[in-house]
Amino acid sequence: MVRVRFAPSPTGFFHIGGARTALFNWLYARHVGGTFVLRIEDTDRERHVEEATEVILDGMRWLAMDWDEGPGVGGACGPYFQSQRDAIYGEYLDILRKKDKIYEKDGAIYFRVSREPQLIDDLIRGQVYRTEEKDFVIFRSNGTPVFHFVNVVDDVAMEISHVIRGEDHLSNSSKHVELFKAFGAPVPKFAHIPLILKTNGSGKMSKRDEGALVEDYRRKQFLPEALRNYLCLLGWSPKDDREIMPIEEVIRLFDLGDINKNNARFDDKKLAHMNAAYVKNMSMEQFLKKGKTLLPQVEVDEKYIDRVLAICQEKLRSFAELEHFVSYFFDENFAYDGEAKVHLKKHDPAARINEFLAAIENLGDFSEENLEKIVTELAEKYGIKTGDYIHTIRFALSGRTVGPSFYRMMPVMGRERVGKRLKRALEELE
Ligand code: GLU
Repeated sequence: MVRVRFAPSPTGFFHIGGARTALFNWLYARHVGGTFVLRIEDTDRERHVEEATEVILDGMRWLAMDWDEGPGVGGACGPYFQSQRDAIYGEYLDILRKKDKIYEKDGAIYFRVSREPQLIDDLIRGQVYRTEEKDFVIFRSNGTPVFHFVNVVDDVAMEISHVIRGEDHLSNSSKHVELFKAFGAPVPKFAHIPLILKTNGSGKMSKRDEGALVEDYRRKQFLPEALRNYLCLLGWSPKDDREIMPIEEVIRLFDLGDINKNNARFDDKKLAHMNAAYVKNMSMEQFLKKGKTLLPQVEVDEKYIDRVLAICQEKLRSFAELEHFVSYFFDENFAYDGEAKVHLKKHDPAARINEFLAAIENLGDFSEENLEKIVTELAEKYGIKTGDYIHTIRFALSGRTVGPSFYRMMPVMGRERVGKRLKRALEELE
């Protein structure tokens, strides 16, 4: 029976590296139909554990990594907060005492190591041997237990079969193997996941680095599925060129032996690209639903909002851009971009606007096709590039130089609104 765990220390942050460790545990549990345990390693009582734990739980829920045992869910091996397991630690300390594996010195309790090489059977690193040369403290003189002890006691008591965690813990593993053996418990398999390096490759990504926290992406309106997909690829790949993959497919293929030995490099551009692809691939229904949660309350027809959003999906890279991308659709007094205005003024924009206004006056259907046709005709008639019309009219209608497809946006605005905006722009450009 496979039982894995994610065992974060609540620091107040949910680091990308922690999320990836959680994800690999979750993927493996789901791949083999095992159990995914969430255990909070909150022995550091100084911190505000409750809020700090919430940050992690929120992030886990946002990324849709559900746990089978742990906070809020319960399970046969609880409690799942180390701060509530003192009695259990006392019992396990007695086991070591009876076996004469511990002694006291200066008020602290030391564990007696065997000084034999210990095998760390690692599914990523292979078979690693390390020898602990020195006895180590498992209870401090102030009576608090040390990480190595509680970590192993819980892995024993929770019957963890695979310890999947960051490579920074590889150096602790010989201590842990000594403890497992001292308890007479089976030693789990290990999988130490390589580090995540900063985008520029200059060392390990730390919580101080830009974009290192899950909450950053949530705040920036990334789609959680996109971030999760990206994290899957930080140290694992499906052995072909696929990058965008439904999570069910990753679960089907994921195995610990396929995790890369080399450090993974965090690539923020690739992540942004992945988010854009997920935005593009949303169903229209999902896109509209999400989009509406991000627009300020405006007094307009719901159908108008839907039509505006519908033409944005193909160009939008991130929901963080949405409000800026569409604001002028809902505001007749939108501001004109100063720089674009200066630039446009060199090209006689009033003439282009007047020509266009005259052409739409007798236009039948105010449709994409018809609008495209008149711009082509105007360009031919006056010997001017279609681009000049497009830039000028777009500026007149939105005050900007970029936005949704030019020909799609006019039918959405409607003939009347377009006419009014063109006239307002003429005054502005005088
Ligand atoms: N609390 C430890 C950490 O956050 C867990 C180590 C482990 O997974 O064994 O690094």
